[in-house]
Amino acid sequence: MNTYSHFLLTAVLRKPLKHAVEKTKTLPPVRTSALLIGSIIPDSLLTIIAIVCGIIDISRGNFGPPGSNADSLMHQLFSDWYFNNPWVMSAQQLFHSPLMVAIFIAIGYFLWKRNVRGGGWFFWLSCAAMLHTLIDIPLHYDDGPLLLWPLNWDLRYYSPVSYWDSDHYGVPTMIYEHFMDVVFIGILIARRRGEIWQQSWIWVAIFAIPLAILIVLQIAGVFG
Ligand SMILES: [Zn+2]
Repeated sequence: MNTYSHFLLTAVLRKPLKHAVEKTKTLPPVRTSALLIGSIIPDSLLTIIAIVCGIIDISRGNFGPPGSNADSLMHQLFSDWYFNNPWVMSAQQLFHSPLMVAIFIAIGYFLWKRNVRGGGWFFWLSCAAMLHTLIDIPLHYDDGPLLLWPLNWDLRYYSPVSYWDSDHYGVPTMIYEHFMDVVFIGILIARRRGEIWQQSWIWVAIFAIPLAILIVLQIAGVFG
């Protein structure tokens, strides 16, 4: 899923999560900054590398639509380094590997239990990163998170659905994702008034109705 969609979804979930956690007292208090940073941190290192590659490409006059410049750094980054370069792979997998993020969650919880400053914050940052990667795993065909990195550098889940690849339902998935972004922004604005968003049925409806419409359109062959 696109980075900004992870951010919006986490921003929407923050409030119900905060309510739920306040009741338990067995988890660190929810920290908004940790959640919002954690929602985008898995993508951030690769984004920085891509920006640097893009700047170098532009400075060399070597740029164009994606895939058109086989000798550009950007092309090399996503066709080769992403899958083979250990540094680029590590940058991408540090907060995408569910194994690694589970360890981060455990470390954060352990530190919080020991009253170490920042432990609770790191716990929630890692939880948001876990949500990010659990959404990414079913939305990538052959470029998803490495499930057991750093122990295993090959194992991915080959989902039938990709959030970007039109050979793997990328078009309806992209439409659904961006429709949901608009819904999320609407919720964030509307939530300031009214308590309707605390009803659980509305959450089921928000996700299920657009998805059902898209599946019907897909079956009907609208997306080709
Ligand atoms: Zn991601």
